[in-house]
Amino acid sequence: MKNGKHLAGTTALVVGGGLIGLCAATRLQHIGADVTLIEPEEKPKGASWGNAGHLAIEQIQPLASLATIRSVPARLFPRGALALPASQLRTWAPFALRMLRASAPARFAAGTAALAALLAEAMPAWRRACETSGTNDLLREDGHFVAWETAASAAQGRAQWLATPIGTATVRDATSDELAMIAQLAPQTSIAGAIRFGGSGQISNLDALAAALRALLVARGGTIRQAAADGIVRTGNIAQVRINGALCNADHIILCAGAASADLLRPMGERIPLIAERGYHIQSAASDWPPDMPPVAFEDRSMIVTRFAGGLRAASFVEFAARQAPPDPAKWDRLRQHVTALGLPFDLPGEPWMGARPTLPDYLPAIGRSRRAANLIYAFGHQHLGLTLAAVTGEAVASIASGDAPAVNLAPFDPARFGDTT
Ligand SMILES: Cc1cc2nc3c(=O)[nH]c(=O)nc-3n(C[C@H](O)[C@H](O)[C@H](O)COP(=O)(O)OP(=O)(O)OC[C@H]3O[C@@H](n4cnc5c(N)ncnc54)[C@H](O)[C@@H]3O)c2cc1C
Repeated sequence: MKNGKHLAGTTALVVGGGLIGLCAATRLQHIGADVTLIEPEEKPKGASWGNAGHLAIEQIQPLASLATIRSVPARLFPRGALALPASQLRTWAPFALRMLRASAPARFAAGTAALAALLAEAMPAWRRACETSGTNDLLREDGHFVAWETAASAAQGRAQWLATPIGTATVRDATSDELAMIAQLAPQTSIAGAIRFGGSGQISNLDALAAALRALLVARGGTIRQAAADGIVRTGNIAQVRINGALCNADHIILCAGAASADLLRPMGERIPLIAERGYHIQSAASDWPPDMPPVAFEDRSMIVTRFAGGLRAASFVEFAARQAPPDPAKWDRLRQHVTALGLPFDLPGEPWMGARPTLPDYLPAIGRSRRAANLIYAFGHQHLGLTLAAVTGEAVASIASGDAPAVNLAPFDPARFGDTT
């Protein structure tokens, strides 16, 4: 063991080439593992590439909370951004019951402490990941805005945010210049108020980040194999990955297939209550939105608007449905209505996208070693925060694999917390 290469001479098989998989793969390689990453898509289209780009270190409170439950009626689609399709009742009802239990005040408080500790390390971990992959220019640390369109919603929203714990982030009222800038970008509405967060940030080009992480992995001797895992099987306490009917071995198997992760565990009898929390975006390739403008959340519409290098993206919706159910075009239409109502500099109809946040009922990720297979590590369930948490998760996975002490207490993220994983 030299130069911190704790995993020299070992093999790692990473299942899933989203951001969690790529960050885990490059980090495992960094400490010496011989890494193979399996990803079915030549150009992945998952949530890692369709998200809002926001490094949301302020969101330390898990969404499994009594406040979230109480807000459900007011947030239902089409009035709001929450969709519980009747046709998908059998998918979301068992999840909703578990989420209700996870929202009990004591569990919410413990979840907040756990998430706060992880999010406090998120930005430093991104700095390290960007440094290693030569992508410092993609990491922007200039905060984000939350804006409101009525005096009443501005007063209520501002008061609520100022009373909410936000970890290592900061918040202040937007200056008059900042308010004028947002108003200019949304000329069809009136901007009644806005706040600006500090410490949060953005990845300005997700495609470039993916390309850099993949290139780094390959340049340092790793392999990216275009294939889908059929499932994970277990012999004794050793896991193997079945790919095209053949069983593949590795000293470390890392499961980070996003919302598909729970299905891959079924062959070994593991039941993890993971749901696809589907979100939608539309993107305009051309836009006059300034390239250096931080993301703006139009909170009355539950919509976040982000300028990427590739265009302007408007994202929203939380739709609880089966991962592979067809998308609902009404969601894209609603985004177009919001864009029009605000008057954003956006070429409609825009490129539509839908993808799934991988979410567990307590809204904490599963990061930890399997109790049933000694060589299997879980890294999925990052819900609304997978971009924010990808780099710190990669580091956590490397610590678990090498046996080094992690920077953050990972006990709250132990996948065994779901009591029915027998
Ligand atoms: C609309 C929207 C906006 C969001 N905005 C933000 C944001 O601003 N900030 C933030 O932090 N987070 C945000 N998120 C959440 C974030 O995008 C996700 O938590 C994160 O992308 C999850 O990453 P992942 O790598 O676990 O999953 P994915 O990105 O889904 O990657 C999983 C990968 O596994 C692969 N895979 C699937 N099946 C198999 C198989 N059988 N074998 C091998 N590989 C397989 C898939 O092809 C995919 O590439 C947003 C999500 C959505 C939907």
